[in-house]
Amino acid sequence: MNAEKRNKKLQKNGFTGFSVHETAEGLVLTGTSADWNEIVNAGFCAAKKYGKTHIINDCVFTGAEIPPMRMPEIKDKAIDGARPDVLVIGGGVVGAATARELTRRELDVLVVEKEYDLAIGASGRNDGCVHPGIDLLPGSQKRKYNVVGNRMFDELSKELDIEFDRCGQTVVFDTKKFLPVMPLAKLWFACMGLGNVKILDEKKLMAFEPALREGVKFGLFFPTGGVVCPYNFTIALGESAAQNGAKFSFDTAVLGMETRNGKIVSVTTNRGTVYPKAVVNAAGVFTEDIAKMAGDRFYSIHPRKGTNTILDHKTVSMVRTSYSLISALKEEGHSKGGGIIRTVDGNVLVGPDAFETYQKEDFTTESKNVAAVFTKQGRATERLRQSDTITYFSGVRAATFEEDFIVEKGRKCKNLVHAAGIQSPGLTAAPAIAVDVAKMCAEILAADGKKVEPNERFDPNRKAIARIAKMDDAQRSAYIKKNPAYGEIVCRCEEISRGEIVEALHRPIPCSTVDGVKKRCRPGMGRCQGGFCGPLVAKIISEELGIPLEKVRKAGAGSELLFGKTKGGAQNG
Ligand SMILES: Cc1cc2nc3c(=O)[nH]c(=O)nc-3n(C[C@H](O)[C@H](O)[C@H](O)COP(=O)(O)OP(=O)(O)OC[C@H]3O[C@@H](n4cnc5c(N)ncnc54)[C@H](O)[C@@H]3O)c2cc1C
Repeated sequence: MNAEKRNKKLQKNGFTGFSVHETAEGLVLTGTSADWNEIVNAGFCAAKKYGKTHIINDCVFTGAEIPPMRMPEIKDKAIDGARPDVLVIGGGVVGAATARELTRRELDVLVVEKEYDLAIGASGRNDGCVHPGIDLLPGSQKRKYNVVGNRMFDELSKELDIEFDRCGQTVVFDTKKFLPVMPLAKLWFACMGLGNVKILDEKKLMAFEPALREGVKFGLFFPTGGVVCPYNFTIALGESAAQNGAKFSFDTAVLGMETRNGKIVSVTTNRGTVYPKAVVNAAGVFTEDIAKMAGDRFYSIHPRKGTNTILDHKTVSMVRTSYSLISALKEEGHSKGGGIIRTVDGNVLVGPDAFETYQKEDFTTESKNVAAVFTKQGRATERLRQSDTITYFSGVRAATFEEDFIVEKGRKCKNLVHAAGIQSPGLTAAPAIAVDVAKMCAEILAADGKKVEPNERFDPNRKAIARIAKMDDAQRSAYIKKNPAYGEIVCRCEEISRGEIVEALHRPIPCSTVDGVKKRCRPGMGRCQGGFCGPLVAKIISEELGIPLEKVRKAGAGSELLFGKTKGGAQNG
């Protein structure tokens, strides 16, 4: 579809203030609106779903000021002058998986992440579903990478020593209208690589998921679905990459690039200038900004927010796999639909929803969204209650107007690889995306005259932090005998010992924050949400790392937990 056809479509659909122009960058959409949704809908109208020619959004939004990217406070020369073979921008699941894949080769790999830890963007704020790929159509990058990525999880979870449950996903119908076409649908799913999908009649469905509401008519069980802890997975990938030689620089934001003859020659950050031979753009919602710096912007990202709620362990009998009612699913066009999901840690996760936002890093949670999700998902089970909530979170998806992943070499920039538009099912697809991105980097380096050899010392295996709560009595005793710190329970809700917390502070990618420890070994993830163990964790960090207690942070810069004495100073300690 050229610009003329797209313009006709825009006019026909009432987007009279918008038009598409062919420019040196590609097809650029212009127009002005105070309504962000109008701009996004004009983008959808101008775009072709799964198309390879992308819409670049240069519309003017007058409804509010678009906030700038959150920036690290630090400014130093920590990585100044570094000359990595590959610079990976972004420490989400795609960046971490790519770094690990790159270390299978003899390469100098540097990952820069603007936040203080891995998995602070979408990779730490999602449902953790390893999707079967129910709604993904042939010809899309999403389907290609989801099918391959999904299959990689069995082996990968063993190598990384992480919990992965291939529990399946159940789609529930409250009408028999679609039942006659289900044998055909089953065949279609088999052809799409989704395995032996089972049609469950009402009786079998209720026996399988007994908490479902009466009145559901039948279900489809997708055996290839699974769940994983998304931040645990991302950190494990990063740790494995670090063990195999990749370097990580946190609080490091890419701010600009110098290009020459269609190649990136240097990359400026707040921690110095780097001279990479190849660059991976895995910056999530900021991939378009990175592409622009490299003179290779040919797509646009429109952020799409989603909110999830986590319920207390006591609700876990509500769901054996993960389920969602199809009539509820139909209400949202651009989400995998979410549902009620049993997490690998024995909680229930409810959500997410999906709505467009002009704010790329809006992680706030609004009660109206939570309530809407409960109303929607409550159609599947009477057992869903908001009063069982222990916490909420929101994440932002990096969607393109074509609704597909972009995994390819730069179109104008010769030493850049894009992993952009990685919205859902990006967690599932990440391991497969990483394989291709690493291959593309190797090709770029080879074309540049570098001999890329396999890394004979690559070790795929990484050991997780010991989990006292998962051990039997004999194992616990042995651990405690070796190190009594494993007998000192700090987090009562999740049964986490001091030994585990200390271990979390000394991993291949170390952490020094309360949230970093929480993501690595779960103190504060339980019902009290750290009310009891939070101060104890801070004290352990202080003692173990030699940081004054008042300097221990919850998360990024400015999140110090203590800011003064309450009872007038020295005599009260
Ligand atoms: C609510 C929600 C639910 C989801 N559920 C699922 C699910 O169940 N299953 C599934 O498969 N997928 C799911 N997804 C999608 C999945 O989370 C994403 O596709 C995936 O996490 C994207 O990973 P990423 O590494 O590309 O991006 P991110 O995790 O966002 O990482 C990008 C990183 O780049 C960093 N960065 C950005 N700009 C710069 C810069 N200039 N300099 C340095 N660093 C920079 C950011 O700080 C960020 O950490 C969900 C997403 C959301 C929001």
